[in-house]
Amino acid sequence: MHTDLVAALDIGGTKIAGALVDGDGGILVRAQRATPAREDGDTVMAAVDQVLGELTAAPLWGGVAALGIGSAGPVDASAGTVSPVNVPGWRGYPLVERARDAVGGLPVELIGDGVAITAAEHWQGAARGHDNALCMVVSTGVGGGLVLDGRLHPGPTGNAGHIGHISVDLDGDPCPCGSRGCVERIASGPNIARRALADGWRPGPDGETSAAAVAAAARAGDPVAVASFERAAQALAAGVAATATLVEIDIAVIGGGVGKAGDVLFTPLRRALERYATLSFVRRLTVVPARMGTDAGLVGAAAAALAGHADRTGTATAGV
Ligand SMILES: [Zn+2]
Repeated sequence: MHTDLVAALDIGGTKIAGALVDGDGGILVRAQRATPAREDGDTVMAAVDQVLGELTAAPLWGGVAALGIGSAGPVDASAGTVSPVNVPGWRGYPLVERARDAVGGLPVELIGDGVAITAAEHWQGAARGHDNALCMVVSTGVGGGLVLDGRLHPGPTGNAGHIGHISVDLDGDPCPCGSRGCVERIASGPNIARRALADGWRPGPDGETSAAAVAAAARAGDPVAVASFERAAQALAAGVAATATLVEIDIAVIGGGVGKAGDVLFTPLRRALERYATLSFVRRLTVVPARMGTDAGLVGAAAAALAGHADRTGTATAGV
């Protein structure tokens, strides 16, 4: 039985969520603010402080051992700074130091949001029981993280497993990251919709042009919509196969809005993996949908805080 209690923050471009989380992943107290993403850095930090203020005011706060933060990236865990693409006021922002001040000097663990989702899926979700896993979020962007040898592998700066910016198309379209033909440039929700529209797909009477609308059209048999998902599935499969070949993962978990498309995505993805993951040691690789819901970022940040706490105190934590 685990009685450890930690605080968790999930910082994204639209909201800042906070929670107190117990050693079994149960969420006991919640707080949330909208992210003032277009404001200056101190204004964004003030919203974080409000969330932390609600948590520190909770009667349970006295038992909190550490704070885990999962943030939109890029993050630099070694420097304790964040530079989220969607929060321009934060560039090299010293989030760890500021957050530590706000929580009375408790230890703070910072990881990227893709790594946080991975920690959550490994602890409580679809990658539970797998010692070598890749977990991905496919939505507005494509992120991810790795579990290797049974442990979360955030890498020195907290960004390892960022599969969205592996290039899978050597002469492909320029990506905002500066490279070309990245997985994200082909498989993210907006890029699935963009490709479908460019190839002649037209939305229904509601005018919705999201990837979810393209998925609905694909399910109804629209060949252009089907082709756009097949192209995304190919890009994802190439990235997953490359990862499996490099580090011998045996499961890839796919979440995010695009991950909810179901068979429209997973059927062509499994078919494409048959073509790209060909060596004997990656043939058993499976691809499954994520199981964690909207709390994945919080649960993953809590997992990182618990793991850091266990490392400091020499105690073991289950599955983290
Ligand atoms: Zn890129």
